[in-house]
Amino acid sequence: MSPSPLPPGSTIGIIGGGQLGRMAALAAARLGYRVHIYCPEPDSPAAQVAAAATVAAYDDPAALEAFARAVDVVTFEFENIPADSVRLLASHVAVHPSWRVLEVAQDRIHEKRFFNDNGIATPPWRRVDGPAALHAAVAEIGRPAVLKTTRFGYDGKGQVKIGPGDDLEAAWAALAAPEAVLEGFVDFAGEVSVIVARGVDGGCAVFDPAWNVHTNHILDTSRVPAPIGPDLAAAAVDLAERCAVTLDLVGLLAVELFVTRDGRLLANEMAPRPHNSGHWTIDACVTDQFEQFVRAVCGLPLGSPERHSDAVMKNLIGAEIDTWPDILRDPGAKLHLYGKTEARAGRKMGHVTRLTPRRDP
Ligand code: AMP
Repeated sequence: MSPSPLPPGSTIGIIGGGQLGRMAALAAARLGYRVHIYCPEPDSPAAQVAAAATVAAYDDPAALEAFARAVDVVTFEFENIPADSVRLLASHVAVHPSWRVLEVAQDRIHEKRFFNDNGIATPPWRRVDGPAALHAAVAEIGRPAVLKTTRFGYDGKGQVKIGPGDDLEAAWAALAAPEAVLEGFVDFAGEVSVIVARGVDGGCAVFDPAWNVHTNHILDTSRVPAPIGPDLAAAAVDLAERCAVTLDLVGLLAVELFVTRDGRLLANEMAPRPHNSGHWTIDACVTDQFEQFVRAVCGLPLGSPERHSDAVMKNLIGAEIDTWPDILRDPGAKLHLYGKTEARAGRKMGHVTRLTPRRDP
């Protein structure tokens, strides 16, 4: 039997204070919940819109324990939290998704093993723990290839491309990590992502696949519908749903996939939380990813992920934020800003979504 739902008025604890936590807190507020944010930085984007905030390190046991006692459920807006911290939280309060899910998603090797063990294709990959292993892996996989740290990489950080003639010792030194994974470079036709919500009763609701374009390894635009045809779209949805079910996930899972030029899907990575490539759902779906996240974590029935419009979401990165007055003058544009004061290069400052009437191919 499913545990009884957490009623509105309860407090959701969110680990992490970025824009994902901010938009989750706004969705939670619409459903009558209070949100308590836990993150090391003061005045975080999420804390600005939350009922309460704890500013402390992710490995501070006293602060974690006080936080766990102050909330009715704990979830995450990012997955890189130490195992001991999750264990401590889980000894006091329900935690969704579980440590097992976070553990798989924290580490690129666990993640790739999970995909491959479940019959999901990935780019060819090898574990690498030093220059000798890198030489051997490059000999097997060939060039070009991408060397990635196994942990704590995001937006292309912790990645080195290895092209013809590139020095492998220098590539290993540039990564500055004890362990890495070498992946074959995929000359892809495009990238898609699928976001699936799974409730405590095991039911899933999946959003339409988004077509993602990255610039300098950072997501630039997500577009729906993805121009991949109904069969590949159905395969991508099925793949994401299988991952969520196999992980026994409660919450959200975003799965990022490469679409090869011969029409195959190769899994790149997954994240057990709301995802940048799902921001279009706020304006284009009956229930958006953040509300779905809140519903799943609180044990409520999931909403409809149906898309009522076609959409293009564009991230506003760094100085692109300066275009906000023009965006506001565009009657077809929906602006979302994250409350960050300093527009550093590569920093996600906001996004804009443009809707058009739904036209199914
Ligand atoms: P990641 O941090 O693994 O999501 O990588 C960020 C972006 O780098 C991806 O969305 C791709 O655009 C690109 N990328 C990562 N891995 C590969 C690969 N094996 N082949 C081609 N492009 C890649």
